Amino acid sequence: MENLFIQFCQTTVKQTNTVGGSFLKRGDHFQILTNGFSYVWDYANPIWVDLDSDFNVTKLPVELSNYQKVYVSVSFFDHAFIVFDWAKKYPQVNFIMGGPAVNFVDMVSDFTKKQFMIKLPSNVSITNESAESIFGLPFDINRFKIDLPDFNTPRLYHFRIGSGCYWSRCNFCIYRHENYTNFEIDPETIQNIPPGGVWLGTESLSPKSCELLTQLNYDDRRYHCFLRGDTSAYKSLQKILPMIKESSHLRFFMGIEFPSNRMLQMMGKGTDIETLIKVIHLLTDAGCKVSLSFITEWECIEKNDVEEAKNFFKMLPDESTYDSYYNPLVNWFGDVKKENFIGKLTGEQKRLNSQWQSILHKYGCLKYGISSERIKQRMLKFRELMP
Ligand code: SF4
Repeated sequence: MENLFIQFCQTTVKQTNTVGGSFLKRGDHFQILTNGFSYVWDYANPIWVDLDSDFNVTKLPVELSNYQKVYVSVSFFDHAFIVFDWAKKYPQVNFIMGGPAVNFVDMVSDFTKKQFMIKLPSNVSITNESAESIFGLPFDINRFKIDLPDFNTPRLYHFRIGSGCYWSRCNFCIYRHENYTNFEIDPETIQNIPPGGVWLGTESLSPKSCELLTQLNYDDRRYHCFLRGDTSAYKSLQKILPMIKESSHLRFFMGIEFPSNRMLQMMGKGTDIETLIKVIHLLTDAGCKVSLSFITEWECIEKNDVEEAKNFFKMLPDESTYDSYYNPLVNWFGDVKKENFIGKLTGEQKRLNSQWQSILHKYGCLKYGISSERIKQRMLKFRELMP
């Protein structure tokens, strides 16, 4: 056999992880499936490689040295670390990594004009192409297939419904591009997707694709997706939510970033506090769950912004209906080994950002937050594994 296709399956992640925990109770365990080869299943015949909660391989069901090329679906940096480890142990095998984690790394190295040059082990390469391109196939959403590993835990897997963001104008966003697509999905494909937690994969659910929510199979299934809190999404959801009786099976992840109108305008978010609040109430009144994401470590906060942020949380619905998480505004265009990667906050900005973070901790129903320093450590670890 020449080629092997690997996707990871993590069975013991605790609820504290923001990726999938939001629809589970505290203390639950669940299974994250990074099912990168779902749409070429019959061609790739991928295997699941089981990981523990610390990203250690617990079971490798094949002998890697029997293969010439090993394609790996990597969603997190930790998956890439595993591949580097394999690359050392099996120098005669060629490893090809694709998926969110490496697409991102590649994008960073392009943007930084090689400041962040990634030097891969000689037997590891990165591809930005889809799994279909390996087989010369066009992407076909209706080819979706997945054999779920047999475990007694809730599962979270990924099902693509579109590509790109219809807004694509937030000036801090690295996922902007002009073209976005809503995929045409057969009703039969939608009805037959496996039970579990399903990430409806797209950068933001477009007003048009909101209709898809009325066609989903809600039996033993929960759905997560990214949503922009803007007027067009509000109008679409206002029409379709009354048609969905299982709306408690829906969780929307909304980027608020910083809840003041001045800041929203400055970042080109294309919405305002009033609209965001309206969308959140519309969702929670209908019984949907909401996860709000925020950005910390800004270099341009003003005193009034902090006051407005505090008021924003007062206008939110009951605390049991939403949760939140935050990430810092990391300067991906900088060099991870230098200060300009994280943007050094000083004086007044340091003080205002610390107030902003306190507000998040006090009022935000916070589930998860990470500092730029922590991200830096992870990126450096990534680089240390390079030759
Ligand atoms: S709405 Fe979200 S995905 Fe779209 S451009 Fe803004 S931050 Fe990026």
